[in-house]
Amino acid sequence: MPVSLYVHIPFCVKRCIYCDFVSGIYSPEKEAAYLETLKKEILNVSKEPVFSTLYIGGGTPTVLSTEGITDLIRHIFKNLSFAENYEATIEANPGTINSEKLNALFSSGINRISIGVQSFNDSELNFLGRIHKSDEAEEAVLLAKKTGLKNIGIDLIYGIPGQDIESWKRTLQKTVSLKPTHISTYELTVEEGTVLYEYMGENIYAENNTGSHENQMHAENSHSRISGKPDSLLSESINYNELDSCLRRNDKKRQKRMFSEQNKLKSLDEDKIIEMYDYAIDFLKSQCFMHYEISNFALPDYFCRHNVNYWDRGEYCGAGLAAHSFINGKRFYNTDNLKDYVKTILSGKTPVRKSEDITGDKALSEAIFLGLRKTQGVNLEEFGKKYGRDLLAVCRKEIKELQEAGLIEIADSNLLRLTRKGILLSNEVFVKFM
Ligand code: SF4
Repeated sequence: MPVSLYVHIPFCVKRCIYCDFVSGIYSPEKEAAYLETLKKEILNVSKEPVFSTLYIGGGTPTVLSTEGITDLIRHIFKNLSFAENYEATIEANPGTINSEKLNALFSSGINRISIGVQSFNDSELNFLGRIHKSDEAEEAVLLAKKTGLKNIGIDLIYGIPGQDIESWKRTLQKTVSLKPTHISTYELTVEEGTVLYEYMGENIYAENNTGSHENQMHAENSHSRISGKPDSLLSESINYNELDSCLRRNDKKRQKRMFSEQNKLKSLDEDKIIEMYDYAIDFLKSQCFMHYEISNFALPDYFCRHNVNYWDRGEYCGAGLAAHSFINGKRFYNTDNLKDYVKTILSGKTPVRKSEDITGDKALSEAIFLGLRKTQGVNLEEFGKKYGRDLLAVCRKEIKELQEAGLIEIADSNLLRLTRKGILLSNEVFVKFM
């Protein structure tokens, strides 16, 4: 089984309004202290595995200086072993890369880039609090290509309040026209504690997911729905121009007035969100992208191997703030407090703050819902060999109910997988196995 390495960079230029990821605002001083610490932690990562994949996520890894990030990558390759055909991904945000940085990343061993474009509509980008405009996103993709990187992924978000299907179609068409090898489409989720949550107030029914952003937890990101209220509550009235201007000026008073209790932002209703997702599946398939996981599409041979390893419950080591590891059936969690992280590692102690055994029913349940995220489904024979249980017998009742509801099916007598309806309503399936 492949073993993966995840490295977390917890800094960004500024905070996006929907973000609840472990990340703070970048400064050169924080970069210096963090990288010194992280490099020490990497020296303690087990030398035993030959890693098949490396994933540098965040945060925004490309916010680091060219010298800082390339020095870190060289340190990783120097001190740990990687398979000859390794995959090494870095997450990048438009607005934080240029040719010099991209060339340096490529020469230091990175061979895959995942660009957080999110949308090609400037109003939507402004609303989300992204630092870039759509033309900068396009430029970022073109620059990456020019560098010689062959494996380029673009991340998109749909279900943005005020977004309509036509805008989403334009974003998808623009994305495909740039010829990436991989496209991720994530539904906007509204997490408690975020600015977006404040804006939405009571107008959201968020089934919060475990998800995250452009990082290892992407792979575990359940496709939760923002179940909106009926159409009458749609927020056609968002004044994007006013919002743009107060977000730019960071005018808190005006923002507060715009999103007062009586004037909260409304989420899109569920049917519209499903329509967007449904369209993306058909459109991307028509453009030769394989829909290999609920939120992920790739050209043949360009699946993200790092994330596939998570969905297969493969082992991984994590380094950095709040990074997780999964070794020998045990999951470990690093502290998510930056000061604590730096202080502990520099004093020679472990940053792990929690660990749990994922065995027995917990392991089975994880194997089922992670496996079902992949459109090929769970291979029943392999499941039996790995876990010593007959899945059809263990979950007879749940499987029967879901089959009757048209949400799952058994293909070729050996693959338990989501139907098209099940893909659109995957949360309804996953809860049955939790
Ligand atoms: S969404 Fe990504 S880029 Fe935006 S603040 Fe969060 S980690 Fe940073």
